[in-house]
This record gives sequence, structure tokens and C-alpha cells, in this order.
Amino acid sequence: MPNNSNLLSKEKTQKQNRIWVRIASVCNNNCIFCLDSNAHDWTFSDEEEIKKNIKDWFKEGFNNRVIISWWEASINPKFSDYISYAKEVWYNRVQTITNWIMFASEDFCKKVFNAWLEEVTFSMHWHNETLHDYLVGTPGTFKKSLKWLLYIKKHFPNIIINIDIVVNKININYLPDIVKFYMKLGIYEFDILQIIPFGRWFHENRQKLFYKLEDYSNKLSETWKLSKIKWMYMWTNRFPAEAFENFEDLIQDPRKIKSEVMWEWRHHFEPFILSNWNEKQECFPAACDSCFLKQYCNDFIDNQKKKIIDDKQKYFILKWEEFPSNVYEKYGKNKEDFIGFLKNIDKPILNLPKCLGWTWIYETYNDIMEEKSIEDYTEKYINDLYRKKSLRCAECKYNDKCEWIHINFIRSYWFNILNPINNNG
Ligand code: SF4
Ligand code: SF4
Repeated sequence: MPNNSNLLSKEKTQKQNRIWVRIASVCNNNCIFCLDSNAHDWTFSDEEEIKKNIKDWFKEGFNNRVIISWWEASINPKFSDYISYAKEVWYNRVQTITNWIMFASEDFCKKVFNAWLEEVTFSMHWHNETLHDYLVGTPGTFKKSLKWLLYIKKHFPNIIINIDIVVNKININYLPDIVKFYMKLGIYEFDILQIIPFGRWFHENRQKLFYKLEDYSNKLSETWKLSKIKWMYMWTNRFPAEAFENFEDLIQDPRKIKSEVMWEWRHHFEPFILSNWNEKQECFPAACDSCFLKQYCNDFIDNQKKKIIDDKQKYFILKWEEFPSNVYEKYGKNKEDFIGFLKNIDKPILNLPKCLGWTWIYETYNDIMEEKSIEDYTEKYINDLYRKKSLRCAECKYNDKCEWIHINFIRSYWFNILNPINNNG
């Protein structure tokens, strides 16, 4: 039975009201994998609008966290003012994500920490100078960052420091060593990010950086195992769920897709939704096989061709539950409870794979025809269409036609809930 204490403890963080405030379209690094390089226009966002967003997006009654970022937020001369302003609005936590170039100064550190910056995510992609500096395209960054990281740990012990690592072909073989290196410095929170096909990595450095997950599954597993160490808090971003077989508590919350497609890269996704996929993205189809949004983009096309289910009254509809704790509440704490629940349903079940039931009929995007905005499609996708299979499904005779099961059931009961059916089954 899966040990889901990690999953349930992460759920508390995911239930927070987390908002990302963009304050700079500029960066003082030159990362060879930058996803946003074509959007750097050396401007800062409008002060009034930033403050309005900070104020308007605060939610009464929630644990509120603001992440002041994009792209290198610390360059904005009003960075510390926005931190203070967020505290005046009563955010519980103010965080930033940084390459740390600006933090290499005692005065700057004092200024921002006195303004009440409480958590800093430090982007480090290697554990030595040569390759970190190569990846970030700026000589001297590694030594400086490390020096000031240690300075902050010593002089501002209450500041929460975590590390984000962008995984790519150059560093993936060393990923477990990179994590261990920073653990030795006393850092136990990591955000491991997969590259996605935008910006400089796609246009200039694809050949150097692109890797196939299946070729490095041993290095990924070795890294995921470190998440089991006491005190360790590991988050993952933009990896396809299949990369976490046996480590399902690391699968990213499906709602995170919203921040990618509706906020960060809305300009990529909105035109294709509104044009019924006639206006294709530049990365389609070249990079889809390595992209965690493969289903999001491709399901939109595929589901349009499917038949609409007319009489839903006839079925029990297996709906998504927003959090694993909701899944447990409704279906029970372990997979046997869930399977027992399904067996007791007295009508055919929609959205269930063959190995868990007999109907094998799924809802589609077209079930709600009026959906055309990116918000509506994204909600529909996350709530109904975001289904996943196990790597073992390749052995199943229904693999080609199956549409698997909603990702939150996989997160709750793990991939081994699915049982490949062989030719005798
Ligand atoms: S799935 Fe394909 S089209 Fe969609 S963002 Fe990824 S690479 Fe681009
Ligand atoms: S094992 Fe996989 S492919 Fe086979 S029915 Fe179950 S989910 Fe579908």
C-alpha cells in the first residue's frame, strides 16, 4: 500500500492561495535553456498594476503566498518595495526565485530581508563551476552564488532557502550528485524542473539539451529516492507523470497546468484553442513526445472527433476529485477499498479503463460544446481529460484504445492499480 504521508503533507501547501507576480521582463543571466528568452524586452511591469494584482489576488481566509518573480525580479529597483507591500496586504509568505546575481551584496541582502522577504529559491543547475557557468551562460556565477548562499545561511538563518534545478541532457547523469551536494550544505528543499520546448532551448540548443526520459530512468529513480530522506521536501515540475512509477507522491498537482497555459505561456496556447487548433504552435509536433503537455495539446484535437454520450443518466460517472484526501474520503484509503467501491456500483461506469471495469466509455472534450476559452478548456482538461497510464500498459492488449484513468486516482492509489490484460484475459 502506498505511503501517502508525503502526498498529504504537500496537499496542505497546494491548498494555499499561491500567486505569481511578474515584475521584470529582463534577466542578467544568459541560460542556454531559457524558456522565456524571446520575451525579454528589458522593461519592468507597471507599478500600479503590480500593486493592484498583489492586492486583488489576496484571498481572505486562505494561507496566502506571493512569489515575486519573472524573469529576474531582483533587478527591478522597486523589488524590496513590492516585498514590503505584500506584507502590508498580509500575505503569509513572500518568496522569490532568483539566479542570485543581485544577492551578491551585503546591502542588498539586508534591504530585501529587512523588507520581509522570507523564502528564496536559488537556481543552481550543477555542483561545480565549469558546467553551472556554461549552463547559465555567465562566467563566475557558481562561485559567487555559493559564497552568498552560505553567507545568507549564516547571517539570516530564518530565511528559507531552496534550490531549483533545470534538468537537461548535460546534467541529468549527475542529478543525484547535484542534489546530494546541496544537501551537504544543509538544504533540504528542491524543485526539479523538466525543460519544455520554448525559448532558447528549443530554437538554439535543442540538440545539446534534449534527452529522452526513458534513457535516464535510473538517474531519475536515484534522484526520486532522495525524496524519502527525513526532512527532505522534493517538488517536481513539468515532468510527465510516467517518470514517477513507484514514486507517485512526486507527481505534480494537475492544477499546476493552469499557471503554465493560462499565465506564463498564454500567448502560445490561447490562439490554438480559439482557432480550433488551426493555428498550430511552432513546437508542434516536433517536440510533443518530450513535452508534459502532450495530452493537453493533442487531446484537444483527438476529442473533437469523438462521439458525444447522449444519455449520461445511464452511467455512474467517475469524476475527478480535486485532492487525494478527497479521493480517500470518497473511495477509501487504499486501492482495495477503491476497487471494492467500483464493484458495488450497479450501473456502467464512465471514465474507467477495462482492467478496472467493463464499460470502457469515456467523456470527451466535446461533451460540453460551448467550451472555447482557454480557461474552460483547461478546466475541462484537468477535471476530466487528464488521464494517465502505467508504463506496464504497453503489455496490455487494450493499450492502443484505452484512455486510462484520471491522474488523481494514480496519485492516490499509484500506477499499480492498473493491471495489464493479456490475450487470455
Ligand atoms: S505538447 Fe507539443 S504543441 Fe503542445 S506545448 Fe508541448 S511541444 Fe508544443
Ligand atoms: S492495463 Fe492499461 S491499457 Fe490495459 S486496460 Fe488497464 S489502463 Fe488500459
